[in-house]
Amino acid sequence: MTSDPGIGNSAAPCFAALAQPGLRALKAYDPGHDLVALRARHGAGRLVELGANENPYGPSPLAVAAARDALGTAHRYPDPLGGGLKQALAARLGVAPAQLLLGNGSHELLMQFAQAFAGPAAGVAMSQYGFAVYALAAQAAGAPLRIAPALPAGHAMARGHDPEALLAAARGEDVRLLYLANPNNPTGTWIDADALARLLDGLPPEVLVVVDEAYAEFVDAPGYASALALLPRYRNLVVTRTFSKAHALAGLRVGYAVGDAALVAVMERLRESFNVNCVALAAATAALGDQAHLREGVAANARERARLTEGLRERGRFVHPSQTNFLLVEFGSATAATEAALLRQGVVVRPMAGYGLPDCLRISVGTAAENVRLLQALDGAGP
Ligand SMILES: *Cc1c(COP(=O)(O)O)cnc(C)c1O
Repeated sequence: MTSDPGIGNSAAPCFAALAQPGLRALKAYDPGHDLVALRARHGAGRLVELGANENPYGPSPLAVAAARDALGTAHRYPDPLGGGLKQALAARLGVAPAQLLLGNGSHELLMQFAQAFAGPAAGVAMSQYGFAVYALAAQAAGAPLRIAPALPAGHAMARGHDPEALLAAARGEDVRLLYLANPNNPTGTWIDADALARLLDGLPPEVLVVVDEAYAEFVDAPGYASALALLPRYRNLVVTRTFSKAHALAGLRVGYAVGDAALVAVMERLRESFNVNCVALAAATAALGDQAHLREGVAANARERARLTEGLRERGRFVHPSQTNFLLVEFGSATAATEAALLRQGVVVRPMAGYGLPDCLRISVGTAAENVRLLQALDGAGP
């Protein structure tokens, strides 16, 4: 039924112009592919999904059981303090519960750091080819963004973070927030513990440094150390982690930040009271208790990461060094055609043009069988 044209006000305002300035130029998240449609087209279980860095082995059975049990309490609000999960995390990480902030995924927390600490007169620094969320967070907060050039081609960590360039960018006038993923998505590269400490040494305490360790559990490079060990030395440091990757709970949305208790207290003012639901809290707590499951998944990833890297290099592809559960792979001028050919064969990978890497695809490390299908599909995709 249409309403009487003589009543009300049917002229649509320009909503984009009404939005606060930071939002006007912002683009909504682009998921890359319509996975629901692709799954329907290729049939249940046939699509090889290597586009989102998910854990192909699935969550701990203990986490699944805890999630099921928690569903029975879904008529109650979740614990707004996330006390049980914070206790478990605090014990495992050797920090106080008051140093922990829980998020509906770490994405939420990454956005909120900018909301809390950045703005038109408080800029954000990040690396070229850094995680896309940081730039969105800065834009949404209306904050100027300073981008440090990545390491050049030819360097062992080409396209990875350049600690000196990051330091220069973060020392720029008005910068109050530095985001850095270690290891980084989408490059897979990492910086070692000494470089990170030098970076922190060079920054005044007023610059908040967010080290995003979404992939920390996958690292086995000897020079790497989690920034968690640096927390007592640098009060302006905060570390984010997630249950989405190594713990295989991406669908439940749980992440956390670890930092100074006074910083966490400020962030708590912004946090929505029930941001982590009861099923997610229960599953994450149980997942944390199943270290054997975690270790198995990480070991399988390391094995498959090495095999997939080798398979791609045998096919003449340049594969960036990775300490994560994905690989950044160069396909040159054949990139778009390769991506399309893979998709036709039911293999989803992530195009990187949005990151300024139009010559690369980001390929998650799948199970052994999935990686074989990827390599076969590449062989079928032509040169
Ligand atoms: C996947 C990822 C995250 C995790 O996001 P969640 O919201 O916790 O699922 C954070 N940072 C980086 C760099 C990532 O790749």
